Amino acid sequence: MMDSFVFPGLTTRVVFGSGTMAQAAEEVSRLGHAKALVLSTPHQKGEAETLAASLGDLAAGVFSGATMHTPVEVTEQAVAAFRESGASAVVSLGGGSTTGLGKAIAVRTGADQVVIPTTYAGSEMTDILGETAAGEKATRRSPDIRPETVIYDVDLTLSLPVSLTVTSAMNAIAHAMEAFYAPDRNPVIELMCRDAMVAFRDGIPTLIADPKDEKARAQALYAAWCCSTALGYVQMALHHKLAHVFGGSFETPHAETHAILLPYTTAFNEVAVPELLAPLADVFGGGSAGGGLWDFAKSVGSPLSLKDIGIAEGDLDRATAIAVKNAYSNPRPIDPGSIRELLQTAWEGRRPG
Ligand code: NAD
Repeated sequence: MMDSFVFPGLTTRVVFGSGTMAQAAEEVSRLGHAKALVLSTPHQKGEAETLAASLGDLAAGVFSGATMHTPVEVTEQAVAAFRESGASAVVSLGGGSTTGLGKAIAVRTGADQVVIPTTYAGSEMTDILGETAAGEKATRRSPDIRPETVIYDVDLTLSLPVSLTVTSAMNAIAHAMEAFYAPDRNPVIELMCRDAMVAFRDGIPTLIADPKDEKARAQALYAAWCCSTALGYVQMALHHKLAHVFGGSFETPHAETHAILLPYTTAFNEVAVPELLAPLADVFGGGSAGGGLWDFAKSVGSPLSLKDIGIAEGDLDRATAIAVKNAYSNPRPIDPGSIRELLQTAWEGRRPG
């Protein structure tokens, strides 16, 4: 039990279940809109068109050009399509890339957002937007960025490939892990994070055996909601900083980068706050939070080393320099030597702790 805390309340309306995509029209109308533009990646254009058809007169069209890292050139095209279509809301169907595009449109036009997430990345509950301009990714937070409504439809996650299921779940667990030591942590977020870790621990092995197991899919999507809420309502630290360094400066894939770094960043901070990370050790076993996460990652076939995603040993000095350039809050003080050591372990893929 914490001695004192502030719980800010959750502002996003959440609809969860199977077949809930059918409620998109009702949710757009509920927000008071007559037209909404549906967003997706090229890969999910078919589903986006089905969704647009289900919106009937509320559909203002489909923009299917969402892509990784929210490049401003794509946002500009999407904003032009949004204005031309006469829409006043967007319905973002997809993973974090599509949600990011919806947020980028919202922050420029005041559009309301209904988000239908299909991965576990967790952008949907947050007020965070990362955008890329001239090859540089910058992140900002603002209340205008946070989606109004999120529809979680378990059916849409049945098609998530096993590899993305695993790495996206590890990406989500990373939000939970940092929430346990966030300076603004609170008991509601902590309860959600504990529940999420158990749901992922139990659900992911089932999904590897049968990616279409509906009960395990529901468990995992529920866990993703909990972790997204943690990401959206408390501060993140070293883990998210390092994932940003590799994604932003070395163009490593988002979910894999989080998945690889997680056991090592956890072990790094566990030295300073073992009592705060004890819930992870309880859930994953292994005698320590970092070791337990590494064991879990290995057991579900999640990538374990930075060299697996194309990072050269020689890149680690530059990554360290970028990671320590600006100060930020972290439970264990950051210095170049200890960060370089963390990255060496992560590059080699050695079990920490
Ligand atoms: P993604 O959105 O890039 O999706 C990866 C690929 O998988 C895409 O081709 C997509 O169409 C496809 N896909 C998605 N769901 C699928 C499904 N159910 N079945 C089959 N294919 C599917 O990947 P992601 O990991 O969800 O998101 C990564 C991006 O999100 C990054 O740019 C990251 O920075 C951003 N992000 C932002 C926040 C935030 O709060 N701002 C949080 C998390 C992630």
